Amino acid sequence: MKPTVAFIGLGAMGYRMAAHLPQHFDTVMVWNRNFAKAQQHAAQYATLAVELQQAAQADLIFSCLPTSADIDTILAQVQCQAGSIWIDCTSGVPEAAQRQAALLKQQGVSFLDAPVSGQTIGAEKASLTFMVGGEADAFERAVPAMQAMGHLIRHVGQSGSGFAVKAVNNMMMAVHLCAAAEGFTTLKAHGVNLQQALDCINASSGKSGVTESALPDRILNRSFPLTFALGLLAKDTGIAIDLVHEAKLSAPVTAVTQSLIQAAYATSEANSDFSAAVKMYESWSKITIE
Ligand code: NDP
Repeated sequence: MKPTVAFIGLGAMGYRMAAHLPQHFDTVMVWNRNFAKAQQHAAQYATLAVELQQAAQADLIFSCLPTSADIDTILAQVQCQAGSIWIDCTSGVPEAAQRQAALLKQQGVSFLDAPVSGQTIGAEKASLTFMVGGEADAFERAVPAMQAMGHLIRHVGQSGSGFAVKAVNNMMMAVHLCAAAEGFTTLKAHGVNLQQALDCINASSGKSGVTESALPDRILNRSFPLTFALGLLAKDTGIAIDLVHEAKLSAPVTAVTQSLIQAAYATSEANSDFSAAVKMYESWSKITIE
């Protein structure tokens, strides 16, 4: 018999991720704090909008909330079935994953930290990357369900490792974002054609995910569409710098980038997309990247 599946948290990512599950599983339950969203999901994708406790009874329980603290709040309210697996797709805190895994183990439940990468478009196209920490046998059992929403599914280590990889990935993306803001304000100050410069850089060694997608699709066209909130990126760079400190390492680029992203978030308009971090550089230089 196919396992029952639940998805908790139908935000920008979760709403789109959960939409693929009914194609692969007979019973797909959804829960969202604002319950109208769960009902809308059920009407749109033939999922079942259920109470939180009922969702927690599934064989495979996915969650995707802003922070590990939000997951703590949910875990405190539910009791799961022994033998089930909780797969948390939040970009969370490694230490919290270890604590949450230990808590659920008392109920006979496995916990995988399974953050994703690929943005909302990847969630929509089921092409996400899953970076997963936790016990290998639970990972193997959860792979088919993750494959319904993702393309590259990797077990990266013990509990917390998935969250660590995600934090470092997003910190590196933030480094590229700051570098692109500095590079493109400098080029504009020198009267360079930014679109042509971007084409050259994207065929050269300075290219990155930021130059290939955020710059052309969000920044140069001044659209800054809100799909990944700047506050969430600030949370991720915070997790990354904590990892550096816990390992007693020196990481000056991470430290500066974390400060820059925090400052950009503090001075940004409410509900800004991550790409709007470049506006801080624009306000300093009085140069607009367009
Ligand atoms: P959103 O802000 O769009 O959605 C957040 C979801 O969590 C909503 O369903 C919200 O419910 C729910 N929620 C928030 N707080 C609580 C709480 N205390 N209790 C219960 N439910 C709560 O976030 P995203 O979907 O963008 O991000 C989710 C996670 O995925 C984050 O950790 C983020 O860093 C990560 N991520 C995001 C990507 C993106 O491109 N957006 C890409 C990769 C990872 P309600 O509707 O009631 O407000």
